[in-house]
Amino acid sequence: MSYLLSGTAANTTLRVFAADTTALVQLARERHDLSPTATAALGRSLTGALLTAQVLTKRDQDRVTLRIQGDGALGYIVAEGGLDGAARGYVKNPDADLPPRVSDNKLDVGGLVGKNGEFAVMRLLENTEPYTGSVPLVSGEIADDLAAYLWQSEQIPSAVLLGVHLDSSGVTHAGGILIQAIAGAADSTLAQLEQNIANLGQLTNAMRTIGLLGAVQQTLEGLDLALQPDALALEFKCRCSMERSLASLVYFSSSERQEMIEAGGQEVICHWCGQKYQVLPEQIRSLE
Ligand SMILES: [Zn+2]
Repeated sequence: MSYLLSGTAANTTLRVFAADTTALVQLARERHDLSPTATAALGRSLTGALLTAQVLTKRDQDRVTLRIQGDGALGYIVAEGGLDGAARGYVKNPDADLPPRVSDNKLDVGGLVGKNGEFAVMRLLENTEPYTGSVPLVSGEIADDLAAYLWQSEQIPSAVLLGVHLDSSGVTHAGGILIQAIAGAADSTLAQLEQNIANLGQLTNAMRTIGLLGAVQQTLEGLDLALQPDALALEFKCRCSMERSLASLVYFSSSERQEMIEAGGQEVICHWCGQKYQVLPEQIRSLE
């Protein structure tokens, strides 16, 4: 099961959020038939959206959507998350892929996303107009870009770690840690945090050896981490339904719908989550 831990550290001058999204990212991979590098790109983005919702939203039904666009083969990434633990998302070109980077043998997410692009965050809060902010892409590796967004667009100093690791059977580890520094955080606290993060190394490696909890404890070592006792369940979950799929067919002309009826019905695929709906001829007829 995927889950999110939250807490504080350093006398509440740090807010800490950490997510294990292994199962969630694996399901996203299956639903969208993603290449390995596209899995890492969308997985980091989904995890980032869930962590960002913790920082930028207040109510369960509020939503944060990351939209990441570079000039690479992936096209764009859209990832939405909420405080209720639900996330959904997709990429433009799910089968785009690149060989692992020679320098560190990691999946080349930055290469697949590309450069010369934009990292945008849309907030959908109850009873308010959607708000979108954006910054230029830093590296296309997602974590750096999210940290840059939070600092430049929201004036939130943060450290962001995101990782997805796959083997031939699928996603073995996926997760993220977001640490937000509150006004008043001491320089010595931030220096210690920086040192801890450097010592931690790659997040998915740490998850494999010491688990998410161990990774969070190591990241906040010496900083009096206090985690809340309850974890939030996370899920790759959409708001699509058969009713909405049927309703989407009203945008076709009645002659187009007639063709669908004669063809024995119409398959509607939700672009957010990849769920397929078989709409029957009599259901299409009910739209007339
Ligand atoms: Zn859906």
